[in-house]
Amino acid sequence: MPEGDSLHRAAARLQPLVGERVEAESSHPQGLATGVAPMVDGRVLEGVEAIGKHLLLRFEGGIVLRSHLRMRGRWRLERRGTPTRGRPWLVLRGSVWEARQWNGPVLALGERPLRRLGPDLLAETDISDIVRRLRRSDRARLVGEALLDQRIVAGIGNMWLAEALWHARVSPRRCLQDVSDEELAAMLTFAQEQMSASAAGKRSLRAVYRKARRPCPRCGAPISSRGLGEANRIAYWCPACQPDHPE
Ligand SMILES: [Zn+2]
Repeated sequence: MPEGDSLHRAAARLQPLVGERVEAESSHPQGLATGVAPMVDGRVLEGVEAIGKHLLLRFEGGIVLRSHLRMRGRWRLERRGTPTRGRPWLVLRGSVWEARQWNGPVLALGERPLRRLGPDLLAETDISDIVRRLRRSDRARLVGEALLDQRIVAGIGNMWLAEALWHARVSPRRCLQDVSDEELAAMLTFAQEQMSASAAGKRSLRAVYRKARRPCPRCGAPISSRGLGEANRIAYWCPACQPDHPE
């Protein structure tokens, strides 16, 4: 799943088009069905930014295009006229570059759903504010579910969640009420640092994410994986250094 940092990279990739009057077209039927292309065609692209897991493209006249990439959506920037195979949902063509949006799955005008998003972890967010927001939410929820709730904090996906839990030695199976403020702050700070580095193009090694049955880099015990919570997302953790019931 694209996480906040990959959305920030997509926003950075599209910057060369900012300030340009773009030609817009959709060749993919689902892209065509969104009705977006005729609304933005011929308008100046005034800005592109990532907020949580949404990419917002602001056009002159107050038109805002919202793109959510979920698992498979992609934005690419190529030289204008580069041959392509397949049909993008949307093409935004400037004088030199063109941006192509592949696989949707959400392209919509307006930013209404964003009003429900919590603070973006990659903006200069105060970690203690997010800890307070977590404390105001359902105490019986699993900590892993609460940290993925984009209404509490926007931007964390399954990969950074797994890595942050491992870093703070917290089992994804613990309830929010059994996790201390210090542990929550340690996870959020780690996720914020790692995601910022990743947004800047740095690669980091993963300790547990998609490493089921491989040895934990800290203690050598085999990594566990299992679907957790209502969404049944796959969690990865070390049962030895992230115990469900710490001393
Ligand atoms: Zn371990």
